[in-house]
Amino acid sequence: MTSFGPDMPAFAELAPGIRRIVAPNPSMMTGPGTNTYLFGKKAIAVLDPGPRLRPHIEDIVDKAAAPIRWILATHTHPDHSPGVRLLAELTDAEVLGMQAPDGDHQDQSFAPTCVLGHGDVLETDEFTLEAVHTPGHASNHLCFRHVASNWVVTGDHVIDGSTVVINPPDGNMKQYIESLKRVKDLRPDALLPGHGEKIDEPDRVIDWIIDHRLAREAKVSDALAGHPGVTSRDLVPHVYKDVPERLYAWAERSLLAHLIKLEEDGKAVQNDGHWSPQ
Ligand SMILES: [Zn+2]
Repeated sequence: MTSFGPDMPAFAELAPGIRRIVAPNPSMMTGPGTNTYLFGKKAIAVLDPGPRLRPHIEDIVDKAAAPIRWILATHTHPDHSPGVRLLAELTDAEVLGMQAPDGDHQDQSFAPTCVLGHGDVLETDEFTLEAVHTPGHASNHLCFRHVASNWVVTGDHVIDGSTVVINPPDGNMKQYIESLKRVKDLRPDALLPGHGEKIDEPDRVIDWIIDHRLAREAKVSDALAGHPGVTSRDLVPHVYKDVPERLYAWAERSLLAHLIKLEEDGKAVQNDGHWSPQ
């Protein structure tokens, strides 16, 4: 399920005025750790400070080497935004993003001073970042286009070397695929993912993700046709033959996301947790 590349450098300058620090939170779900991006040289915007780990937050302040004026979050999962509050306390920066929805795995400490919507821009003397609403992995997920480079920070919408979890009800597969097309339509020159290395072939990677998801959907559809009235849990081994049993709980969440998409597309029906083809 997860196949990140070799170790990444903890700090990298990707282009003049675009820097990346990897948070020290590596795991199966976060790969090498969460990527924190710094934009600007004289007045800094920090994107996704990651988990609330004081040494990492202090490292961000240190590496910024200039006043941090803005803190942005792609979404409010525990590996992306809990560091925001501490960083804001240390810097008095403005906090920008979308509020956390209710539910599990949401960082309710995230308190934007400026709530962003699709198309909103942060324009500074040095750079412009444009918010692109990309629900799917999370309902409040934003990508950010750095206008001058035409690079797009993708948070957990697109990550390097792995697929992301779509966990209903906040995660939604139909919206996810639509949001992938939305990013592709920006014709970005590169993607800066929340985990892993910079992606230099956005079109190829996004097409692969969409194809991969639709191929999985076709498997779900076929399995459902062969086992009408089944629960999502019972369908897992029929659809995720390539996934080891210890990952079945996660696989079931993705499977459920596919079933809900099929339902939204009018191709499946659910009755009391039992699914059948429409
Ligand atoms: Zn996430």
